[in-house]
Amino acid sequence: MNMSFPKLRCRLEYVCLSCGARYGIEELHYTCPKCGGVFLLENLDFDALKKTPAQEWRALFDSRAASKRTALRGIFRFYELIAPVLEEQDILYLGEGNTPIVDAPASLAALVGRQFAFKNEGQNPSASFKDRGMACAFSYLQALVRRNKWDEVLTVCASTGDTSAAAALYAAYAGGPVKSVVLLPHGKVTPQQLSQPLGSGATVLELPGVFDDCMKVVEHLAETYRVALLNSKNAWRILGQESYAYEVAQWHDWDMRHICLFVPVGNAGNITAIMNGFLKMHALGIIASLPRLFGVQSTHADPVFRYYEESDPAKRRFEPVAVTPSVAQAAMIGNPVSFPRVRYLAEKFKEIGGEEAFQVVHVEEQDIMDAMLLANRHGHISCTQGGECLAGLRLAVAQGRIAKDERAVLDATAHSLKFSGFQDMYFSDSFPPAYEITPRKEYMNKPELVVSPAEKQTLNEQEFTIHVANVIAKRLNLQSKK
Ligand SMILES: *Cc1c(COP(=O)(O)O)cnc(C)c1O
Ligand SMILES: [Zn+2]
Repeated sequence: MNMSFPKLRCRLEYVCLSCGARYGIEELHYTCPKCGGVFLLENLDFDALKKTPAQEWRALFDSRAASKRTALRGIFRFYELIAPVLEEQDILYLGEGNTPIVDAPASLAALVGRQFAFKNEGQNPSASFKDRGMACAFSYLQALVRRNKWDEVLTVCASTGDTSAAAALYAAYAGGPVKSVVLLPHGKVTPQQLSQPLGSGATVLELPGVFDDCMKVVEHLAETYRVALLNSKNAWRILGQESYAYEVAQWHDWDMRHICLFVPVGNAGNITAIMNGFLKMHALGIIASLPRLFGVQSTHADPVFRYYEESDPAKRRFEPVAVTPSVAQAAMIGNPVSFPRVRYLAEKFKEIGGEEAFQVVHVEEQDIMDAMLLANRHGHISCTQGGECLAGLRLAVAQGRIAKDERAVLDATAHSLKFSGFQDMYFSDSFPPAYEITPRKEYMNKPELVVSPAEKQTLNEQEFTIHVANVIAKRLNLQSKK
């Protein structure tokens, strides 16, 4: 089907969540020039979208699933909900979005006690959900480059690994004046994550410290120099990441009853985007009710959990925490940049969905690793942060927070291969003590060399084949066909 590109154009504005100041989108803004607060992008013409019946929106988004127009194949299948200011020529599409929702096999669901599925964000082009946000941020950047005829744009980001992989990939594809610089905490991203921006040709800079240290530096750079900041302070990324919510709703035929989502929380951009996405669909009647949303953090990096742990909203106070090593390394953040967005949107979420509609749980490192391995031993491809979500579901079930008829959708935010080093440490029982992880024997696995190289020397080719086959038959206790 060759659908036309949407004609609708709206007016978008940055709105500061702290002081309410508003700014036009002709310029890239990250934080409020008046008060330093974070922004959300607001569609001033949102009410005009309400004139279209919800049924029509659903039919339109469903029909675009079959479109061969690349600009509408990824996150911009939901163009009108995301950034109805972009022109088709500016949209970058690298195959992001539309990731599969894979049900847990019956045996695993029985073990966990609830029906659930993973949404495999690792099947995005740079193997994490960050591509959704980058597709939007880079499309907007391309529009700026075209309009302003810029001959060089340096994009910068701090990263726990996946932001830099995604930024470097989209920058490499955009090419021309767009160049990528990424700032990483030395030794605190996995080798796979480090190889990604290197392979995409980005300038990779490292500093001693953790993510929060890198973040402060790029913020200073963005305030002082002409660079485009691609961390989730950049509100265009939030818009793109809303597509996760749209896809979850679409997959469930826009019926959110009995659905609860589990999302890992690091810098809190993702959970912000997911809440905003569901709130928009609800405001337009595209969904009749909100799903329930559970944020999940490790006990080693849980500032958002600690905030909501206080049940009296009047007494809640946000305090950054000093993180300790976590296998959910991509979410190992003590001072989440998007926390004000979470607070603002969680309030709205609870107003519509009730007190139980938004919750935050925290889980032990041991449970994160065990849950990831349990999932992957049942055919999933979950990363440690996906394991964090499953650990969160198991905890919530144990605490009686999940009804029997509820179905959970867990965000496996990246591909398991990016985090295979943690699996290696588990299998070889070599976690440094700070992780507080003791491997379970039944989950450990290692390759076995069946014949030594010395033994191989003594045999000719045919003898070797037969000898090895015999050794294996014995090892596996194989029964002869005769
Ligand atoms: C970035 C990231 C997170 C954390 O998401 P936030 O938006 O920072 O809360 C979780 N998992 C993976 C794999 C990530 O790359
Ligand atoms: Zn402000």
